[in-house]
Amino acid sequence: GAKAKGLAEYQFYDEVLHEKTMDMLRLETDLRKGVERGEFVLEYQPIVSLQTCEIAGFETLVRWQHPERGIISPEIFIPIAEKTGSIIKLGDWILYEGCCQMKQWLEKIPANRQLFININVSGKQFIQPDFIAKFKETLSQTGLPGSYLKIEMTESVLMKNVDQLNNILSQIKALGVRIALDDFGTGYSSLSYLHKFPIDVLKIDRSFVVQMGARNEKDLVSIIISIAKNMKMDVVAEGIETAAQFKRLHSYDCQYGQGFLFSKPLRTKEAENLIMGTDIKLSFCRELIDIIT
Ligand code: C2E
Ligand code: MG
Ligand code: MG
Ligand code: MG
Repeated sequence: GAKAKGLAEYQFYDEVLHEKTMDMLRLETDLRKGVERGEFVLEYQPIVSLQTCEIAGFETLVRWQHPERGIISPEIFIPIAEKTGSIIKLGDWILYEGCCQMKQWLEKIPANRQLFININVSGKQFIQPDFIAKFKETLSQTGLPGSYLKIEMTESVLMKNVDQLNNILSQIKALGVRIALDDFGTGYSSLSYLHKFPIDVLKIDRSFVVQMGARNEKDLVSIIISIAKNMKMDVVAEGIETAAQFKRLHSYDCQYGQGFLFSKPLRTKEAENLIMGTDIKLSFCRELIDIIT
């Protein structure tokens, strides 16, 4: 009867829930061990000038090489790391590794070549009392001048105490490091937050880029770009996948773009081949430029 079925279903869902909980606990433990064992690797996704199609910089994206499960996405483990506190040690490593890599690239590329590195920093890291001290130490240990580094933070960080955050950000900026607001438009912050903090770069979230041109009204993307310009901020459009999106963003005078159209995130060697010019993967991008000019 219905009652029996209901009970069976209940037991089934209960088991699924139990499995999920166990799975989560296992991942939490694995993560803690993984950080100690150094199971993480960084990938670098090119950030491209939409006017020249040259690589302007890279965003650092972390991957977890789990010994049994293979590569695990940061979308899954970063929230766990934030919840359990593992993000502190992991974040320290990411910052060190990213700065170290950039310093090595700087030594290889011509002196007149511009290049920057973006590193994602979690809100949990920012509010550590010794964050600034560790941050300074990382720059001096790796020898990377702050002017080559941009810190990406999400809007959720802005919800913290305004004075406290401004204090931290101004200390970061005193080192020549710039601040990028990631996934702009997806958080709960209002536009009024933008002028309360010394933000240098707005990264327009992929969800807005995907919607471009879908409605007749003026694109949100073009509105965000004009706001950024007015506030003297740079703009990066995230998640560009099609030539049509590229063309539209170019016509909006968007400075930078990032997305699978140009390149997926790359391992060190692949990224290096791109900046050293031995790889012509971005050549099709020049064809895009030819089309629009
Ligand atoms: P994010 O910082 O907004 O990074 C952009 C994400 O979009 C990356 O996903 C990237 O691989 C993906 N992406 C780039 N181009 C395209 C595209 O054309 N189409 C689509 N569909 N996706 C694209 P990923 O690497 O999986 O990272 C996801 C998120 O995890 C990041 O979003 C960031 O919030 C977080 N994350 C990644 N690495 C780190 C890190 O080192 N530290 C911290 N705190 N968070 C990180
Ligand atoms: Mg980011
Ligand atoms: Mg983003
Ligand atoms: Mg994102």
